[in-house]
Amino acid sequence: MMDGQAAMGDMKQKIAAKIFAHYAKWTAAETFFCRKGCSLCCTQNVMITAVEGQIIYDYIAARKMERWLGERLSVARQTQPVRLTTNGFARLCLAGNVEDSDEEQASHAGICPFLAEDCCTIYAARPFACRSFASTRNCHASGTACLPERVVVVNTVTMQLIEHVGQRGYWGNMLDVLLAQSRHADNREVKKYIDEAFIDAAQARILRAEPIPGFLLKPEEEQEVQEYLHTVLAENIGAATVGDILNNRAHG
Ligand code: SF4
Ligand code: SF4
Repeated sequence: MMDGQAAMGDMKQKIAAKIFAHYAKWTAAETFFCRKGCSLCCTQNVMITAVEGQIIYDYIAARKMERWLGERLSVARQTQPVRLTTNGFARLCLAGNVEDSDEEQASHAGICPFLAEDCCTIYAARPFACRSFASTRNCHASGTACLPERVVVVNTVTMQLIEHVGQRGYWGNMLDVLLAQSRHADNREVKKYIDEAFIDAAQARILRAEPIPGFLLKPEEEQEVQEYLHTVLAENIGAATVGDILNNRAHG
């Protein structure tokens, strides 16, 4: 039988899975250049919550790939400390401290260590940031991704929502969050392959996820975002909705 904390962790993973599925449905109408084997966007500059980190750990455990993950997390890399979470950035902006809210972080990064032969080894368990990498034009030809503004807006709102789900847990670079989570008892099979000094350094670089303080929307963006949020919050998990669970209205 699951204890309360494990049950809550499991519920948060179910909510994240609902958000991933809802986002995939919402973007299905867009036409992107992205295709299998196209991987210029697979860098070490991916931010995640601990909820998404545990989805990756569970995927790895189910496939007995603990050694593989431990070794991938032990490679030298170029991640930078993060200054603000997505909700932390929104909080500062909404308080009028825009000059202190320099969002520029870790813009240059090496190749993601989970990439193998231009494909993602953890594709089914990849975090939201990876799901939102997309471009309407060939990044290899142009050097940068191009996204319609409405997709950029929904990407940010979804990042905020997932951070809200993972509030108080780790938030930061995917590799750092995974290293820090290796200290969780459930993940000890991975930790066996990692040097303690790597984990200490990673923990010093990460932040804690924050609740949503509000959204940074232009008036013309509000209706579409409201509709998007309304449908994701109305998704059912058992007898409750995602909105009920996030607002502590679920019983039984
Ligand atoms: S975002 Fe760019 S590099 Fe990544 S899959 Fe799409 S087209 Fe390829
Ligand atoms: S986790 Fe997978 S999709 Fe995300 S950056 Fe790494 S290889 Fe790419």
